[in-house]
Amino acid sequence: MNRLAWCAVFLLSCAREPTTPSAPAAPNAPSITDPMPKEMRAALRRVEGIRELKATKPIFGKYISRPDLLAMLRKHAADELPPEALVHEELVLKLLGAIPTEYAFVESQFQTLGAEIAGLYVPIDKTMYLLSDLDPQEAEATLLHELVHALQDQHFDLRNRIHYKKGSGDALSAASALGEGDATYVMLSAVGAPPTPALLRLAITERMKSKSSIPEYIGNSLSSSYIYGYEFAYTLARDGGMGMLNHAWERPPTTSEQILHTAKWRLNEPALPIAAPAMDHKVDDDSLGELGLRLYLELGGSKHDAAIAAAGWGGDRGALSVFGETVQFAWHYRADSDAQGSPALVLGELASVFRRDGTIDNTNGVVCVNRAKGGPLAAVQRGLDVWLVAGPTSSRTWQSQATCADARTALAKLISATAP
Ligand SMILES: [Zn+2]
Repeated sequence: MNRLAWCAVFLLSCAREPTTPSAPAAPNAPSITDPMPKEMRAALRRVEGIRELKATKPIFGKYISRPDLLAMLRKHAADELPPEALVHEELVLKLLGAIPTEYAFVESQFQTLGAEIAGLYVPIDKTMYLLSDLDPQEAEATLLHELVHALQDQHFDLRNRIHYKKGSGDALSAASALGEGDATYVMLSAVGAPPTPALLRLAITERMKSKSSIPEYIGNSLSSSYIYGYEFAYTLARDGGMGMLNHAWERPPTTSEQILHTAKWRLNEPALPIAAPAMDHKVDDDSLGELGLRLYLELGGSKHDAAIAAAGWGGDRGALSVFGETVQFAWHYRADSDAQGSPALVLGELASVFRRDGTIDNTNGVVCVNRAKGGPLAAVQRGLDVWLVAGPTSSRTWQSQATCADARTALAKLISATAP
């Protein structure tokens, strides 16, 4: 899970072009308090009609400037996330090679979100914050989107659903995808016929690609709750209308696998329980989930092959170890026994990701690449299981502290430490 994206999920509205150095905020921009301005009341009626939910309480809102909106985002992240959550996530992504070691992970994401954000809904103070300098079309879409979040909060209690819980990354990914998918679906239905999920995905992916300063993995993870959440909401609304979407809030998807495959949500298929890999100096452990795995495998070059391989996901757990400046990551994956994508496909796709960093060493069935900065990156398959180690390396100098031979020993140790 992208922890900062999760934090921003109920905040980020529709994608938009940054405004040109702009008309300053209208000096008398109204505060959407009581009485609600007429155009807002009209927008609420539209959203209530499409979503088939009525507001049960007044909805509060404010128009604010872009710097104030970014400040609000930073404050919300600081309130919701323990500081080490982002530090650990950054280390894991750098160890995995998903982002460059020199990438300023936290600040760059704030910059990206700050440029893209158009509005946010903050469940803590039950208020919508809308950018004051949007053009009329953007302003309308943003208002519609945030109004849906306000209705979600009144009917389904967003605050409790998106509260950060250590080690629950995949469940939070699923919760944010449900919220963003629902809001995006209703917003797009209110301004015209909702596009097919493939079309929306194309539009968002092209937009992220145009932002060359954002690593591919970050762009994809920031937009994933919109893309896959929309597909989930679109499918449910098509098959069972708003009643089915409400049912998804009453029995929410618990994994990103259930978001990606509505049939698995209907069956309420749980994650396989996987214990955190045994490591000394473990500081964090979490699940990538099917979505996190898929986004990582996409770095190998084929979105199609990544999706097929990740579809075999049954459960996974990764652990980060930090000792002084030495950092290492280990990961244990298990495929469903009736999996569409076999564990061998996962290993093959991992090899494609590793290959970006050099020639693959394939000794004793372990695929491995030696990296000067990140340390060895190695994986092996045993039956339904796949194991991976990344590092050790120095998080201060980013100089590898081991080789593929060490990684093979570490993998053997991990496997033998796990009860069959
Ligand atoms: Zn949203």
